[in-house]
Amino acid sequence: MEKANWGYRLKGYEKMSRELNTNDGFELRESPEKGEGIFATKPFEVGDTVMVGIIEEVLSANHSHASQISENEYVLHAGMISKVNHSCGPNCGIRVNETGAHDFIGMKDISVNEEITFDYAMRNYTIDHFPQQCMCGSKRCRGRITGWKDLPDEKKKEYEGFVAPYLLELDARHSCDKV
Ligand SMILES: [Zn+2]
Repeated sequence: MEKANWGYRLKGYEKMSRELNTNDGFELRESPEKGEGIFATKPFEVGDTVMVGIIEEVLSANHSHASQISENEYVLHAGMISKVNHSCGPNCGIRVNETGAHDFIGMKDISVNEEITFDYAMRNYTIDHFPQQCMCGSKRCRGRITGWKDLPDEKKKEYEGFVAPYLLELDARHSCDKV
């Protein structure tokens, strides 16, 4: 039942996805140092929807390109969203759209040729697939890519309104557990 429902949703958004992914102010580029990344081809302002999320597939388990959308649900986003790199000082955050997918929203003004980034901690409670050193190059790099669970409180505050809502639910539940 669940699956059929997702299939239906996907069909409905196929057309939208084609329209949205054609012109849209970003493109995939490859750099020798960082590999593939998504770069702005037009300027964006704070609050702009930079990339529209479309769910391509619901997964039964996490893997390196998956997006976590609830405590136990992982999806694959269609198009270039899955290629957006992590930064510890990102220019985009996450907002859930009406399909349950994650849109990327500008947290800072973004200029042409700037790489579009978000913080993986905005989406994943824990990070299981990136144990290596973070290479984001941000002045505020944490050194290692960590999940929401391990973010300092001031960072969580800074990201308010730009993270997957289920992370806040998990936080609330865990703080109840502790009491
Ligand atoms: Zn970093």
